Amino acid sequence: MAVFDESMKMDVLKDLISFKTVNGHEKVAADYLVDLFDRYGISAKLLNVAGDRCNLVAEIGSGAPILGFTGHLDVVDAGDLGLWKSDPFSLTESDGVLYGRGVADMKAGVAAFVIAMIELKEAGLPQVGTVRLLLTFGEEIGEEGSAAVAADGLMDDVDGLVVGEPTGFNIAYSQKGSMDIKFSSKGKAAHSSMPQLGFNAIDPLMNLLTEANGVFRSHEKAMDSMGPLIFNVTTINGGTQVNSIPDDAEAEVNVRTVPEFDNEQIKDLLSELVEKYNQQGAHISFEMFMDEGPVASTKDNQLVELAQELMKPYIKGDVAYLNDLFKDIQKTLQMAKKGDLLIVVSPGITDASNLVKNKRADYPFIVAGPGNLSQHAPNEYLAKQMYFDFIDLYQKLAVQFLEKN
Ligand SMILES: [Zn+2]
Repeated sequence: MAVFDESMKMDVLKDLISFKTVNGHEKVAADYLVDLFDRYGISAKLLNVAGDRCNLVAEIGSGAPILGFTGHLDVVDAGDLGLWKSDPFSLTESDGVLYGRGVADMKAGVAAFVIAMIELKEAGLPQVGTVRLLLTFGEEIGEEGSAAVAADGLMDDVDGLVVGEPTGFNIAYSQKGSMDIKFSSKGKAAHSSMPQLGFNAIDPLMNLLTEANGVFRSHEKAMDSMGPLIFNVTTINGGTQVNSIPDDAEAEVNVRTVPEFDNEQIKDLLSELVEKYNQQGAHISFEMFMDEGPVASTKDNQLVELAQELMKPYIKGDVAYLNDLFKDIQKTLQMAKKGDLLIVVSPGITDASNLVKNKRADYPFIVAGPGNLSQHAPNEYLAKQMYFDFIDLYQKLAVQFLEKN
């Protein structure tokens, strides 16, 4: 099915990396892909266009069943350029390894989906059903793009979803939820020698956060497959001067939720805590600026099984090629030699928070894409062969999933 030779596959990835879609500006990449699809007779559409941001939808095949492929077009900031050995926005190859911002998270995944669809189409496939590609903006901050995709009903008739976030040859089948919460405490300023004339905004906030740490870290509700809820105060600010009673304090908290202890329960418990401190004279409020629920698909879904079977032949015991989801490289090597792969709970959230919302527990859903744990770090990398392998893998996955449904 090779319509693209290796240099053409590299060109697509190189072009995508060159677009600086850092937390925005995704439309330039989407426009490029619309043109590319157009050259092969596939009509792709931009959706939710606002300024230089948008989503993209493209389909091959027709009718039911429908398999969804999804990825995001934004990347995180390159950070300190001094830490990079090459220009992050110029795809660089060395010893079979590719470097660049987004090469793992997740422009290789996006390129692999796009090329897989073009090659399928050129081969007259799929003979049954449809492959629908949903590319989103803003995944890294706020997941607005996928929220719009879901609101437009584009997931309503999709029978299974593959998220191409970097897992290497591992499969994630569920993910925790995530909440970003900001607490504000108001007080009254006074000279620090006469605190009775003011009200210290830091005191009750500090006590509340300490109590919340205790409550959320010692609870017994955990999910077997996903592990415990995770609760952390991640920023704290307050006061302006060492000899003034602070009239203002703020803190931010990130919570990783599980179905047994979900976002609603966290909100209720936090409201009770805040209420308790406010009864005692504090003026504390909180707001959620991200609120994504857990996705609790079971390990027994059909896509897990199929992807597991199809991935096995690609796993090779070569360090440069390996996924390093396991920090323990020896163990990873042993697993690779045996042809094993990991089936895991995704540690982070993905667009699936919006796209797989309200689907049944055994809804066919996996996260599987070219990459490793170098995402978001300087010198983000990917074994070139893994990129090529995922192009083939996605084609097999699409054809076999659609024929079986
Ligand atoms: Zn990502």
